[in-house]
Amino acid sequence: MPELPEVETVKRGLEPVLKGRKITRVETRRDGLRFPFPEGFSDRLAGATFIHLTRRAKYILADLDNGLSLLVHLGMTGRFTVLSPKGAANLGEFYFEAAAGESADGPHDHVVIHLEEDLRVVYSDPRRFGMMDLVETAACQNHKLLKGIGVEPLGNELSADYLAAKFKGKAAPLKAALLDQRIIAGLGNIYVCEALFRARLSPKRKAGAVKREKLEELVRHIRDILNEAILAGGSTLQDFQGADGVKGEYQQRFLVYDREGQPCSNCGKPIKRVVQSGRSSFYCAHCQK
Ligand SMILES: [Zn+2]
Repeated sequence: MPELPEVETVKRGLEPVLKGRKITRVETRRDGLRFPFPEGFSDRLAGATFIHLTRRAKYILADLDNGLSLLVHLGMTGRFTVLSPKGAANLGEFYFEAAAGESADGPHDHVVIHLEEDLRVVYSDPRRFGMMDLVETAACQNHKLLKGIGVEPLGNELSADYLAAKFKGKAAPLKAALLDQRIIAGLGNIYVCEALFRARLSPKRKAGAVKREKLEELVRHIRDILNEAILAGGSTLQDFQGADGVKGEYQQRFLVYDREGQPCSNCGKPIKRVVQSGRSSFYCAHCQK
């Protein structure tokens, strides 16, 4: 499943392609993905120009000059590919030129956004857990999927003060509290495991019992890990590919995630796995207290 760094990578890949370009038409090849497409989806997009792209949690918001924003979630297997005729303008480092014979006609290509200059942005999603909706830009933070979600882990609002306030009196395990989307938006299992290892904090520790200085360390590690993953192009689990069609490389750098039984990089003792609220936590019982 694409995690926050992958979504940020996709957003950064699409931005130079979409920004300032007008949509000529939109093809939908089915009625919807996880949810039906909104009424008049293609017609309301046609003729509009993309202004800019933002990310909120694991959603991409593409603002248009007609007062609407295209809201996208990649689900489990969603990805974008940019196809262009040869000789098109340079679109930046994420520019991807279709291989000979490649077209937007794969069985899982569900949405094709046609842009000026004969560019096509193709959304493919074999499992169709992704979603697209159109929302009024001014009201998009009130969308039912965005309302009530917590602070961005890479934004200034995430701080030791914030976590101390949210965790106060909480007996829930630290792992569960960090995965709570009402507290931090879009932070997934992999990155929580890795941040807890770096901060030397046990995933089983009571959230309310973590000292202030450890929360500061934890916040720093969360930011570092996400930024490193974004720079590496995301973690690439199974089906994920960046908008440029190139697989990310961050996965090779995991220190504890999916490494049960392998030696801890710090002390050499085997990494343990424990299931917490239905998700696997990987940690070193010796190093993480
Ligand atoms: Zn260890």
